[in-house]
Amino acid sequence: MNQFSYVRPTSLKAAIEAVAKNNARFIAGGTNLLDLMKNGVIISDKLVDINRLPLKDIQLDNGVLHIGSLVLNSDLAEHELVKTHHPLLSQALLAGASQQLRNMATVGGNMMQRTRCSYYYDTTMPCNKRSPNSGCGALGGINRMHAIFGANDNCIAVHPSDMCVALAALDATVLVSGPKGDRHIPFTDFHRLPGNTPQLDNNLGKNELITAVEIPANNFTKNVYYLKVRDRASYAFALVSVAAALDIRDGVIQQARLAMGGVAHKPWRLPDAEKALTGKAPTVENFRIAANIATQSAKTYKHNAFKTALATNSIQTALLKATTV
Ligand SMILES: Cc1cc2nc3c(=O)[nH]c(=O)nc-3n(C[C@H](O)[C@H](O)[C@H](O)COP(=O)(O)OP(=O)(O)OC[C@H]3O[C@@H](n4cnc5c(N)ncnc54)[C@H](O)[C@@H]3O)c2cc1C
Repeated sequence: MNQFSYVRPTSLKAAIEAVAKNNARFIAGGTNLLDLMKNGVIISDKLVDINRLPLKDIQLDNGVLHIGSLVLNSDLAEHELVKTHHPLLSQALLAGASQQLRNMATVGGNMMQRTRCSYYYDTTMPCNKRSPNSGCGALGGINRMHAIFGANDNCIAVHPSDMCVALAALDATVLVSGPKGDRHIPFTDFHRLPGNTPQLDNNLGKNELITAVEIPANNFTKNVYYLKVRDRASYAFALVSVAAALDIRDGVIQQARLAMGGVAHKPWRLPDAEKALTGKAPTVENFRIAANIATQSAKTYKHNAFKTALATNSIQTALLKATTV
């Protein structure tokens, strides 16, 4: 690990100014950044510890749930407002990592965590994400965990978060502050597909800080389910995950929200499947049709062909569970 300086600003302005200098980075819980620095994947000469900033609030205002970016994953999962108004988010958070990690991990850090592609972590291997234009080790390597949607030969890594899959399904908004002021980014536009710049995971500008996430009011309080399929029952990243939320009234699906994790470089919304469910009865047959629509465009690699069937079955199961809880 390289030597670095360390500062602990107490205002947003000071934090944003501090990160603009040298090769500086924000640090929150440190559960991802420190591992990457210890392995030499990320080299930073200055860490700007943001834990003293006033970004730990959870508030409901006119139906909009405001979540400060320093709220811990464990606190968020158990918060009464989240369990009551957005149980899907609570379920997704509890499916992530372990209790100890969730006690350290923050909302902002979770959104910014890097991929778990082993070629990204192995500094002896090519990786366009770690070292642009060096190639993609995973493309011809062991790509069992990798993407089936939105990837290209530059990068087939997936975004590893569980929380973000629920936030994408719930149409959240990301609030950020930077040297040029504040702005709001729709959650589904926050993370990026690899395109020609796989080194970029998201659309956060240089020196911008995530200050909060907001979730609009919705009717997804009853028929929701977060399904995570993984190699071990706990403490493992998703092979495939599904966030399913249905608003069912009078036996008809009024609105549907579906997003997947473990399948793309970003949390993957399934708008065509949502459309196919809207106005329909919540039946096994309609769930099967929607799931098949959702995975029509899947493209697999040597070791992850199983993921298409796994994704299709997982969508159906999540929808079924959402209607039987
Ligand atoms: C063994 C293990 C298992 C795990 N399993 C899962 C899992 O199953 N599901 C899952 O979702 N996650 C999992 N994780 C990942 C874990 O959730 C993340 O490491 C954690 O959420 C990162 O949050 P942090 O606050 O520790 O971030 P940090 O490590 O402090 O920071 C991560 C990145 O975010 C940036 N950053 C932090 N806060 C902000 C901000 N407010 N604005 C801008 N940039 C910011 C930092 O500069 C850094 O680049 C696992 C981690 C480990 C180590």
